Amino acid sequence: AGLGARAESSKKDVLLGGLLLPGFDEQSCASRYQSVYYRKNMTRSPTPYLISRLRQQEALQRRCGPGTEAYRRASDRLRSGEKDVGTVDGCSYLVLLSYRGLGNRILATASAFLYAMLTDRVLLVDRGKTTGDLFCEPFPETTWLLPLDFPLQGYKDLGEDAAESYGNVTLRNETGDSSEHRFVYMHLDHAASLSSKLAYCDDHRQFLHRVQWVVMRTDGYIAPSLFLNPAYQQELDRMFPRKDSVFYIISRYLLHPTNDVWGMVTRFYSSYLKSADERLGIQIRVFVQDDKPVQHILDQILACTSQEHLLPGVLPSAGGSGSGGAPRPPPTAGGRSKAVLVTGLNGWYHDSIREMYWRSASANGEVVSVHQPSREEHQRFFHRMQDMKALAEMYLLSMTDKIVTSGWSTFGYVGAALGGLTPYIMIKPENHKVPDPPCKWAMSMEPCAQGPPYFECTRKEVDKILDTGNLVPHVRACEDMSWGLKLT
Ligand code: GDP
Repeated sequence: AGLGARAESSKKDVLLGGLLLPGFDEQSCASRYQSVYYRKNMTRSPTPYLISRLRQQEALQRRCGPGTEAYRRASDRLRSGEKDVGTVDGCSYLVLLSYRGLGNRILATASAFLYAMLTDRVLLVDRGKTTGDLFCEPFPETTWLLPLDFPLQGYKDLGEDAAESYGNVTLRNETGDSSEHRFVYMHLDHAASLSSKLAYCDDHRQFLHRVQWVVMRTDGYIAPSLFLNPAYQQELDRMFPRKDSVFYIISRYLLHPTNDVWGMVTRFYSSYLKSADERLGIQIRVFVQDDKPVQHILDQILACTSQEHLLPGVLPSAGGSGSGGAPRPPPTAGGRSKAVLVTGLNGWYHDSIREMYWRSASANGEVVSVHQPSREEHQRFFHRMQDMKALAEMYLLSMTDKIVTSGWSTFGYVGAALGGLTPYIMIKPENHKVPDPPCKWAMSMEPCAQGPPYFECTRKEVDKILDTGNLVPHVRACEDMSWGLKLT
């Protein structure tokens, strides 16, 4: 019987309006068809056009992916250095190198998938140390993991100065009809140079689409920047008539945690969050050295949750000064329950909030419980267990009803956007002071692109810095980073 039967009985649409294909093995990746039981119904639906494009992409991945004759020929050509082959076999490839923290890598992966669809390329992700431990295969009957025998020597070390980088190829003017490229490297780090960022403006009159292998390195969400390119606008409009949920829809399609991670998610959810009347997520990311507790961050969290009525205040405790009068009896049980999920590297914020609601009664009688899955203290890169915990926590955040996130943090962007939640973003403090206001309700659930291009694609005047947050509808400056861009 399994999930099929459960789906029927509770009328949950496990395939998310056609976003997901039926027929994947449920045992090996339980989250794919189960996550619907843990989440709110989708607040945005995929369009029939997007669904048809996904099916095309799956067919392309299957036809050209690892293990096929086409892949073997393409990788032989890459190895031998044979040039100017264009899209022989109708197969061209996008290899993604993602890096930095897990939030960065997830945003990079979703963006690369969108770019692969826009440019009809097969997406292959470099597995790093942990990708295979974190996510299931998204495409049926093939793999999205870059084969271990990928023939491009030293590809992991490609950087902005590489001769094959888009910026350098452009500067050398090797972009005409007769261009010969074994591969091209797109360096789309948030701090990439302006000439590297010209890659955002590539269009079909340029050389890139004739290059069979493209290696892309990015550490963030580049989708908003793709919306600035006139060459993609029509297609993007058809795929996403609503621009405020691009990551949400892509992530529901593409990202399915492995059974180990999903077990962590569901066990924690069932133990601490499920039975509450309401769930609030608070994602705390403090950008200070050594991750020590910071008083003004706690003050900021409490100012934000109070300002936005997300958490109740507390009554003065009996022993407290100024309470006056007779001691108050504790309220009788039976109030609404609110479960607060706190995530962060440090446990002090959680402990302080929990203690506050233990020592004193909440002002409105709400029963507040506070839970934090882990306190890892320090960030470690590509550490298997830390990545798994981080992913589990992002998913748990996405299962809350309301969410407070930390500005600048890709961890928070992912937690909110996965859940279709418009976050209250705590603005990053300056000068050790609580900012005023302490948090802002975001324009949309979308993540912020932290290093977009600052020029117009039609003019490509890289020496003039423009406010690209006003060029096209639905692409605006981020709430937490004035130079970032987000879809709304
Ligand atoms: P960002 O640095 O806030 O943009 O987020 P990233 O996810 O890219 O990088 C931070 C990394 O630090 C994560 O990948 C985790 O490994 C770790 N980390 C930060 N915050 C948390 C947290 O709340 N929980 C856990 N488990 N890990 C965290």
